[in-house]
Amino acid sequence: CREGVYNFAAGPAVLPPEVLERARASLSEWQGLGYSLLEAPFTGDEFKTLMDATRLQVKSALAVPDNYQVIFLQGGASAQFSLVPLNLLPPTATAGYVETGHWSARALAEGHRYGRSHLVASTRGSGFDHVPAVSEWALNNDLHYCHITPNETANGVQFPEDPDCGDIPLIADMTSEFLSRPVHIERYGMIYAGTQKNLGPTGLVIAIIRKDLLGQARPETPTVFNYQAQTERQNRINTPLTFGIYLVHLMLDWLEEQGGVNAIHPHNIAQSQVLYRIIDEDDFFYCPVIPEYRSIMNVCFGTRDENHQQRFLAEAEAMGLMNLAGHSHAGGLRASLYNAQSDAAVAALASFMADFRRRYG
Ligand code: PMP
Repeated sequence: CREGVYNFAAGPAVLPPEVLERARASLSEWQGLGYSLLEAPFTGDEFKTLMDATRLQVKSALAVPDNYQVIFLQGGASAQFSLVPLNLLPPTATAGYVETGHWSARALAEGHRYGRSHLVASTRGSGFDHVPAVSEWALNNDLHYCHITPNETANGVQFPEDPDCGDIPLIADMTSEFLSRPVHIERYGMIYAGTQKNLGPTGLVIAIIRKDLLGQARPETPTVFNYQAQTERQNRINTPLTFGIYLVHLMLDWLEEQGGVNAIHPHNIAQSQVLYRIIDEDDFFYCPVIPEYRSIMNVCFGTRDENHQQRFLAEAEAMGLMNLAGHSHAGGLRASLYNAQSDAAVAALASFMADFRRRYG
């Protein structure tokens, strides 16, 4: 960001300046090849080494056990709404879905196209203000897997812990919380995440899948989207997103420099608490989500007097506080606080909110 500009976008989102600097350097020359990374063949040893190393970085950052495989895929997180059933759901089987906001609803709607879906739990009736406890989910042993969205980017709702569904494989769209916290990987059959929030590149997806779930793909599954085929061919069936994978590698280096997910998680919590504290202080602002389920990545809020909302956005932008409008389906305001969000940005927003309330409250 230019000095004095703070970006609260929900994704693509702010990146650390040092990562942008390192990425910029790769555009002049990469690995002494005499040309840039953008011009480097994906079949070359340099890129193969980079991709293998990045896969290992993901495994190490989340302490992924050896019975899981890390795969890079294309098409963004939405493509997985179709690719998960194509790869993991036999045509006559039933998939469970927990609906906690806009993105899990999108996953469910797309899932309907590929087989039987069973709504295990939904908080639509209460305006997506919480996450139902696993004990309230209508799970049954006929479910082939159960899909969840642990952080609802548009609604600002986050699961307080990794659910335990016993033997039913849990499939999680972790797009907007990936690598923001430690995860009990063994509770999941598969995790997938678009990387445009905590890691930078758009269109790239990282999937972590338990190896015993591979090999169930329907025959019509496109080969480039077949998890097992990509695993067997070291992710080189087609041209991977070379620059995106490099950016992920740089972001994982940066995360390690910050102390990894164990260090960044309390930092993320502290940043979100600065904003939630102001929101809860009196009746000027509100947050629609019950406190224990509030997202530490996407702080969704509003002004009680709707007339203040547009003014808030205009004045914020004039102060360099950018992209604070809520998701088009949820409305309101939203401040996204991914790993790379700076304390200076949060402090500037907090001070603007307090000042705005003083002037208009
Ligand atoms: N799932 C979640 C939780 C998201 O936040 C988003 C994007 N905001 C998506 C899926 C869709 O990602 P993409 O645009 O990469 O398809």
